[in-house]
Amino acid sequence: MIPVETLRGKTVALFGLGGSGLSTLHALVEGGAEVSAWDDSETARARASADGFLVVDLAQADWSRFTLLVLAPGVPLTHPEPHWTVKRAHAAGVPVIGDIELFARERSALAPVAPFVAITGTNGKSTTTALIAHVLKEAGRDVALGGNIGVPVLDLPPPTDGRVHVVECSSYQIDLAPSLAPTVGLLINITPDHLDRHGDLAGYAAVKERLVAKAETALVGVDDEPSREIAARLKAESGRRVVTVSGGESPLADVFVADRRIVARGSAEPPIDLRNARALRGAHNGQNAAFAYAAVRALGVAREDIARAFETFPGLAHRMEEVGRLGHVLFVNDSKATNADAAEKALMSFRDIHWILGGKAKAGGIEPLRPLFPRIAKAYLIGAAAEDFAATFGDAVPFEQCGTLSHALEAAARDASRSAAEEPVVLLSPACASFDQFANFEARGDAFRAEVQYLLNGEP
Ligand code: ADP
Repeated sequence: MIPVETLRGKTVALFGLGGSGLSTLHALVEGGAEVSAWDDSETARARASADGFLVVDLAQADWSRFTLLVLAPGVPLTHPEPHWTVKRAHAAGVPVIGDIELFARERSALAPVAPFVAITGTNGKSTTTALIAHVLKEAGRDVALGGNIGVPVLDLPPPTDGRVHVVECSSYQIDLAPSLAPTVGLLINITPDHLDRHGDLAGYAAVKERLVAKAETALVGVDDEPSREIAARLKAESGRRVVTVSGGESPLADVFVADRRIVARGSAEPPIDLRNARALRGAHNGQNAAFAYAAVRALGVAREDIARAFETFPGLAHRMEEVGRLGHVLFVNDSKATNADAAEKALMSFRDIHWILGGKAKAGGIEPLRPLFPRIAKAYLIGAAAEDFAATFGDAVPFEQCGTLSHALEAAARDASRSAAEEPVVLLSPACASFDQFANFEARGDAFRAEVQYLLNGEP
């Protein structure tokens, strides 16, 4: 844990007592702040109370006493409208911040040159964050990985000059972190998402820009218009270290991917070959890998160490995760693909696909994936969307109504084992939410993985 010493003796309001809120509360109290904590949920309040924390109804509190309001990242700061605690804070002139800001302040106070890599983007954050941490570990560095992925940032060990913090930041967290100034900041991409929480694309992009605006080295994507504008603006500032990155062959990029190789423009070093990096298939992972390369280079990791570590990267669960092989058939769990956009990435990464899909459909269904239908050997439909998707396939793709994931896997494994293709793939990439049949996408992916294990080993 990182005790928040910078607020010792101060009176602080905290709203939001979920996982990361509770972790922040611990860190504040451990550092000597006096915290009045609150949540709309009675269960969350009871849990904090039981842990011995001071639970105070912030609606009734005297806000002139508070130095700060610390907000959990899930609580709206601006859109669709500011949370009532935010309105109270503004009325009383109390600044509103989050856990990443507290981390940034502790780092400034304790170890201002401690290496700190911060990662954001609409897509690819978790993969890139995990990949950077993996490469650094393999290169023998002491690494603390967390933030929006896994461990909340204040639960990590404290920053020191010899330890690298690799921290994934959501746009909500950046919005609550005005003094964020990482050693290396990554802005991977910006596409319309979460606009309900940021107003419009310009507002969303402005928040994302803040992660790189004060970075010592700023890595900025050039594969979408909003990111390109940010990159151009930063490059125009004198004395800024800005590295532009593309997942393709953009002429604007300092680091880019050509023919599955990462190239640093103007460098005498040979490119890094991604063809043997099994967990980094697909063009989207080329973008993630190019960013990870640029980040660890900025921290001085040698080219050979990077190349080796890319090949041993195990990937993240539920994101094109290879879960097994039976004969010539490869089984892939991409349960995280809860919409057509994400499923498209997986369909583009494989051929001879036995595609398990369905669940609770999103608007637009799978119609946008039609250009990829030729890659599909057969589709196996499950869940509530099955009838709609069958209508979309029509005569274009052979399909089977399977009802459940179990039946779908059984049928897909049977057909794939008889396939004459070199490497047929049984791919769970549902293009749907899971809630009609599972608690969440993790439960769906875990069920798939367990059933594949059973097929492989005959035991659960
Ligand atoms: P995030 O943490 O930003 O949600 P992840 O690394 O967890 O991103 O990847 C989630 C999904 O987003 C992947 O399964 C894939 O479909 C898609 N994805 C990953 N990286 C990219 C990228 N660079 N560009 C576009 N889509 C991506």
